[in-house]
Amino acid sequence: MTDFLWSPWRAAYVSGQSPGTGCVFCRLKAEPELDDKRHVLHRGRFNFVVLNLYPYTSGHLLIAPYEHLSRPSKALKPATDEMMDLAIRAELALEAEYGPDGFNLGMNLGRAAGAGVADHYHLHVLPRWIGDANFTTTVGETRVLSENLSDTYRKLKRHFRESA
Ligand SMILES: [Zn+2]
Repeated sequence: MTDFLWSPWRAAYVSGQSPGTGCVFCRLKAEPELDDKRHVLHRGRFNFVVLNLYPYTSGHLLIAPYEHLSRPSKALKPATDEMMDLAIRAELALEAEYGPDGFNLGMNLGRAAGAGVADHYHLHVLPRWIGDANFTTTVGETRVLSENLSDTYRKLKRHFRESA
């Protein structure tokens, strides 16, 4: 059970990722015109919300600050406060669309902790269902449900728009 508890947010994969072109979160930050294509759900003052490209469960999303920082302890309080506000909005949006049995909210800080993008911290938010680890298939370290990413994007985008 420990594996299931900790592995869902081992890796972050976001659209527009390609090797050798710097930080993927900074790239997302810099190109808002590509938000729909890259599944950026929302831009706050200090943080943005984006779908994980290879979700552990449908609705798996990431919240990252615009500022390139390795740990939340290096960020200013308004930024970390807003990150938690966005996590709550994400929780409510996922609740409304998917009615899960629970949620994982988690961060990996540093390579030793399993961070996929180690020098730009980010919070994983994902809905969980009792037994979901059994009926999903595994691609690398990531579990994938059948819902199309564009469908997830359309469903969740609405909630972030409404409460903006
Ligand atoms: Zn960055």
